[in-house]
Amino acid sequence: MYAITKEVYFCYGHRLMNHPGKCRHLHGHSVKAAVTITRKELDAQDMVCDFADVRECVEEYVQRFLDHNFLLHRDDPIIPLLEQNNERFLALQEHPTAEVLARMIYRHVQSRGFPVDQVVLWETASANACYRED
Ligand SMILES: [Zn+2]
Repeated sequence: MYAITKEVYFCYGHRLMNHPGKCRHLHGHSVKAAVTITRKELDAQDMVCDFADVRECVEEYVQRFLDHNFLLHRDDPIIPLLEQNNERFLALQEHPTAEVLARMIYRHVQSRGFPVDQVVLWETASANACYRED
């Protein structure tokens, strides 16, 4: 089995509704998403796949939906205020945790035909969430 991992960096703001700690307040993160692709056999170029192709796939999604965006649960009461001020935001059906973001990126990469193994989202230098399907 061969595996390659491509890292993509981006920023977002969010808050976690009903969180008992400080994550319930508006705040932001500069994160790293590490996307791992696996194959049993190498392609004609003796690669799992081209790093640039993985980067392009992830960047396309990140730039469109996540980078410099404000990620909120759809029931967050701050949404009308953001709308009134023409602020960018993305309302999710779930809480915008690192776990949920890792799964969103995973599903996008998978939908583009890459044999994605896992996505690890580093929310801080010491904390990450991983999504994979077994
Ligand atoms: Zn946070």
